[in-house]
Amino acid sequence: MRAEAHPPRDGSTPAHTTMTNCHWRCELNKISKIRNIRRRQQNDVCYYCRQPIWHREISDFASRHGITTKKATLLKATAEHLVPRSECGSDALHNIVAACWFCNSTRHRAKQPLSPDAYGMKVRARLAKGRWHGFVARSEPR
Ligand SMILES: [Zn+2]
Repeated sequence: MRAEAHPPRDGSTPAHTTMTNCHWRCELNKISKIRNIRRRQQNDVCYYCRQPIWHREISDFASRHGITTKKATLLKATAEHLVPRSECGSDALHNIVAACWFCNSTRHRAKQPLSPDAYGMKVRARLAKGRWHGFVARSEPR
């Protein structure tokens, strides 16, 4: 018989190893749900650069904004932890916002990441000088 996809409801430890995978998958689902809630609340713009982000249709997004799909890759909606997990930031709604892939990954690449507010100001100043991901929507998204 195949092992169950979910851990037993009685709280006992399953004898197989799929629980870890299942648990991880459930966590990812939860975070992507929160990201989608935030994305809608933010009117589909990145929390930091305030440019449009996409979550399903990259080619639609690219043609709508007149950019290549390669460039559009940078603007994929991601879940951004305001307080990173490495600093015990939680996966709760209040700690997650929707940010484009570029802003998200660049923030956490720094040795000492800036606070969300300081980082947002830096990003928008750089964007205005053409020194960020190089994408500024032609008109306000909404
Ligand atoms: Zn961004």
